[in-house]
Amino acid sequence: MGIIRKTKSVETLIQLFNQGEEAYSGVYLVDRLRKKMNKTTVYRILERLEDEGMIHSFTDNDGLTWYAKCNGCSSSHHADLHPHFKCRNCGKTVCLNLDIAIPSIPNRKVDSAEFLLIGVCEKCLT
Ligand SMILES: [Zn+2]
Ligand SMILES: [Zn+2]
Repeated sequence: MGIIRKTKSVETLIQLFNQGEEAYSGVYLVDRLRKKMNKTTVYRILERLEDEGMIHSFTDNDGLTWYAKCNGCSSSHHADLHPHFKCRNCGKTVCLNLDIAIPSIPNRKVDSAEFLLIGVCEKCLT
């Protein structure tokens, strides 16, 4: 795979994710970057960034795919077993810096797990 060729479009997306722990849905990114690139480009870059271990994705209760920056992941090792929190009021979704222990289940091999907590964020609570 190697290093991603840093086109302007790739840079734009990386910068967005570097802003913090906030996750963005694919739909939101396509809309936000509408003037800069088309939908196909957005999803192609997201796929590449995920391959490189720079971002990870998860699915929410509405079936939307969300993307967020990875911490300590690489293309060979995805250490993204952490919960996500989605605010049902404003829709803001973030990675939570918590470890989730996956139970070991006899005679089963767990490949992936998703943990989505839904509630009200600190901003909407006040
Ligand atoms: Zn909120
Ligand atoms: Zn996350």
